[in-house]
Amino acid sequence: MSAGGTIVVVGAGQAGFQAAASLREAGFDGSLTIVGDEPVAPYQRPPLSKAYLAGKATAGTLALRPASFYADHRIALRLGTRAAALDRAGRQVALASGERLAYDHLILATGARNRPLPVPGADLAGVLQLRTLADADSIQARLAGVETVVVVGAGFIGLEFAAVAAARAIAVTVVEAAGSVMSRAVSQATSAFFRQAHEAAGIRFVLGASAERIAGADGRVTAVETTDGRSLPADLVLVGIGVVPNADLAAEAGLAVADGILVDHTLLTSDPAVSAIGDCAVFPSPFAGRAPTRIESVQNAVDQARCVAARLTGRAAPYAALPWFWSDQGRLKLQIAGLARPHDRAVTRGDPATGAFSVFCYRHGHLVGVESVNRPADHMIARRLIAERLPLAPEQAADPAFDLRALVRAAAAA
Ligand code: FAD
Ligand code: NDP
Repeated sequence: MSAGGTIVVVGAGQAGFQAAASLREAGFDGSLTIVGDEPVAPYQRPPLSKAYLAGKATAGTLALRPASFYADHRIALRLGTRAAALDRAGRQVALASGERLAYDHLILATGARNRPLPVPGADLAGVLQLRTLADADSIQARLAGVETVVVVGAGFIGLEFAAVAAARAIAVTVVEAAGSVMSRAVSQATSAFFRQAHEAAGIRFVLGASAERIAGADGRVTAVETTDGRSLPADLVLVGIGVVPNADLAAEAGLAVADGILVDHTLLTSDPAVSAIGDCAVFPSPFAGRAPTRIESVQNAVDQARCVAARLTGRAAPYAALPWFWSDQGRLKLQIAGLARPHDRAVTRGDPATGAFSVFCYRHGHLVGVESVNRPADHMIARRLIAERLPLAPEQAADPAFDLRALVRAAAAA
């Protein structure tokens, strides 16, 4: 596409914002519109389950850019506006209002929505989920006065929320279907460490069980009944059982979809006039043997947006950014480089008993992921080790005397 033309971005989240910002940065001079169904300008979600919920950040500090940025960069923000349908033949987006926006290129950055808890009572007052600023405000408003919380799901949201609630002296029980916490995301060693650390902070876990029914009185939640026969009292229930990609718009328009919108190695959908990025996109990741992969993280949203902006301004390149993640749970800072799951060997560097260590995960002899707890220097080195595929034997990784930094420096000098 030339420097002009019309680009429409659907989704005013992390990826949609970044796509528009990067397009302007790269010199795109045409018409640029972001359509977003939330009523607020693009903001950061990560603090919602951390500093914002803990009362240490305000809504104003979450905005990705001040309002003036959009006017200054000639980015039309259509907030509180849902894209209802795509007319691919006519290259138009139909808004819920009936208005139609023409495009030369369309970027789908529709993100994901929380998976609903499919049990009786899930609609009772006090059963909440966390995805948006509005959700966080609603939780915040109800937390005051709450004494007992049950969290369903020991993923990132569940554990970050549990840590915030426990710090407010609220009694917290976490119910998780799997036998360990964050089982989808981390190694057994890291999972076991986090469970113990949260237990030491007073959080109770019920593992290998799921919520079967939510009990209530007068329309409000009173308890969570589990598949293993418990009844856990609750003033508030936080459900964090994963997300569903927002791929309906794409599917209804006939684009290829399978647990997300399918894109190629340059993030193009099955229609060359439509790209998809962020939580909604399924792409062939070079860090997963090019298997179809969907990643739910800020890094992925930002780097995919930059990749598409570069392509649309004449610098096409395959999407090859290294995935990395972080999660702050109380005083514990978890950072993950690479896609560590699945792995067949894991070695630990440092002593978990000190509260600071890294787990190096290998698949078929190759380093595929490194999880660092309170060891930010390891994380930064790990990103280079994995991205540049530098050889590091498990024995070297586990040896605290082995100089990882020197290995990376030597590779840079070679
Ligand atoms: P989203 O941010 O979900 O944005 C998509 C937007 O599109 C939404 O506003 C949605 O309402 C809108 N939309 C969807 N369909 C339509 C439509 N048809 N018309 C108009 N608008 C539409 N990641 C990390 O890496 N580290 C963290 O610590 C971290 N913490 C998190 C904490 C919380 C509480 C949550 C919810 C997420 C967290 N994440 C974290 C994940 C990260 O925020 C997401 O991966 C990231 O926001 C994905 O960006 P996105 O733009 O793809 O999707
Ligand atoms: P996750 O997928 O991380 O975790 C969901 C957890 O809930 C899994 O362990 C899952 O187990 C479990 N689960 C599923 N169904 C049930 C059930 N019926 N009963 C009990 N447990 C169940 O998703 P989250 O909800 O924690 O997070 C939502 C989104 O927010 C994700 O996109 C996540 O990446 C993002 N986020 C990211 C953060 C970060 O990167 N630091 C922080 C907060 C949110 P199983 O895997 O066995 O299904």
